Amino acid sequence: MEMKTLTQKAVGAILVAVTTASFALAQENSSPPQLDLRLYDIVSAASPERLETDIRKLVSFGTRNTFSDTVSQTRGIGAARRWIKAEFDRISDDCGGCLEVFYQRSLVKAEENRRVSEDTWIVNVIAIQTGTRYQNRYVIMSGDIDSRASKGADAVTDAPGANDNASGMAGTIEAARILTEYKFPASIVYSGLSGEEQGLFGGRHMAKVAKEKGWEIIGVLTNNMIGNIEGIDGVVENNTFRVFSEPTSVTEPDEARRRRRFFGGEVDGPSRQLARYVHRITDMYIPNLDAIMIYRLDRFGRGGHHRPFNDEGFPGIRIMETHENYTRQHQDIRTENGINYGDVIEGVNFKYAAKLTAVNAITLAALAWAPPEPRKVKIGGAVQPSTRLAWDKVEDLDLAGFKVYWRDTTAPQWQHSRFVGMVTEYVLENIVIDNYLFGVAAVGTNGNESVIVFPSELMRRGRR
Ligand SMILES: [Zn+2]
Repeated sequence: MEMKTLTQKAVGAILVAVTTASFALAQENSSPPQLDLRLYDIVSAASPERLETDIRKLVSFGTRNTFSDTVSQTRGIGAARRWIKAEFDRISDDCGGCLEVFYQRSLVKAEENRRVSEDTWIVNVIAIQTGTRYQNRYVIMSGDIDSRASKGADAVTDAPGANDNASGMAGTIEAARILTEYKFPASIVYSGLSGEEQGLFGGRHMAKVAKEKGWEIIGVLTNNMIGNIEGIDGVVENNTFRVFSEPTSVTEPDEARRRRRFFGGEVDGPSRQLARYVHRITDMYIPNLDAIMIYRLDRFGRGGHHRPFNDEGFPGIRIMETHENYTRQHQDIRTENGINYGDVIEGVNFKYAAKLTAVNAITLAALAWAPPEPRKVKIGGAVQPSTRLAWDKVEDLDLAGFKVYWRDTTAPQWQHSRFVGMVTEYVLENIVIDNYLFGVAAVGTNGNESVIVFPSELMRRGRR
C-alpha cells in the first residue's frame, strides 16, 4: 500500500521469504494430500446420456448371442463388436491415438464344450491405454459383448441384453472416454469380452494371454449388470452396489494355506484387498453411494468374467447392482401371467449405471496414478508389546512414502492407518500383533495409494 514505508515493505518481503522457506521444508517432511481432486472431476464426467445412447445402440443389434450372425451390419454379435471397436477407435482418435485397439480371437471347439454345438470364434475387443512409466502394469475394466435369450444357444431370438450386459459394456466404453483425457504411469485396459454366457470363454482367453505375456495385473474390475435398481422383490434402491471378491487366491501354494492357520489372513487375499480399495475410494469420492462387500467369489453358484482371471492368479472382482431382477435376465421377451419378461431397455437406470461407471473410473485412475505396491511385506512381534512391519523399497519418482494399516480381526474394512514416510520398516508401539490384522500401502505425492498388501513373510526376532 502507498502508506507503507520502504522498511515495512522490506520486513514484509523477508517475512514472506521466511514463511515460504519453512513451508517448503515442512512440505518435504509432511504427508501427501488426502485427496486427489482430479478424481472428483472424473466422477462428474460419467454421463448418463452417453450411457443411454450406447446401451440403446447395443440393444439395436437385436441379439448379441455368441452364436449369432457375424456378417450382417445391423444384427448379431459381429455387427456389435465392430461397432464397439469403431467406438474405441474414435475415442483413440480424439486423444491422438492414445489407445491400442484390437480384436482378440480364440476358437472354441464343439467337441470340448457341452454348450457349444459348432466350432465358434470368440472375439474380444480390447483397448489399451499404455502407461507412461509402467507399461507392463495393468488395471483392467471389463464388460461383456454377448447377450442371451431363454435358451443360451438360441442364436436368432431377440436378446436385447440391455442390462446383461450392455450396461457393463457401455460403462467400459464411457470409462475409456473419460480417462483418455489423462495420462497415467500404469496401463489401463478397457475390454469387451465375449462368450460369457456359455462358459466365460472370452475372459478365459484374455487371462491366459495376459499370463503368457507376463502382464503384471494390479486388478480386474468385471462389470456385469450395473443398471438395474428394481429388485425382483419390488425393492427400488439406487445408492448401493455390490462388490464380489474371493477371500484368498485359488492359485496359492499349499504352504500359504498351512501358514494361514497360524498367522491369519483368511479374508485378506489380493482380490479382497482390491474390493476394499473400491469400497474406500467410493466412500471418499462419491457421496450417497456405498459399496456392499460380498465375501464370496460371485453370486451363489453363478459366474462372471473376473473368475478366469482369478483362476490364473490375478486379483479380480465383480462390480454389480445390489438388486437383480430375474424376470429380465436370460428371458425371451414375452408377457406371461401379467408379468413382462425380457432384458429390455426399460429395465436400465442410466443415472445408476453412470454412478457405477464412475466407481470404476476412479478406481482405475487412482490405481494407475498410485506408485507400485510394496513387495515382500514382512511382519513380526509375537510376545512383544509392539508390531513390526518391513517391506522392500519401492522405486518411484512420485513416491511420497508408505502407510501402515491395521484393523480388528473381526472388522471387514481397514480401520486405522498411519503414514510412516519414506521408510522400509516400522514399529507400531503398543499394538499387540495378536489382536489386529495389518497391511502396508505405497502412497504417491498426488495422494493416490496402491492396494494394501497383507504380509506374506515373517520377520525373525531381532533381525529381518
Ligand atoms: Zn447373463
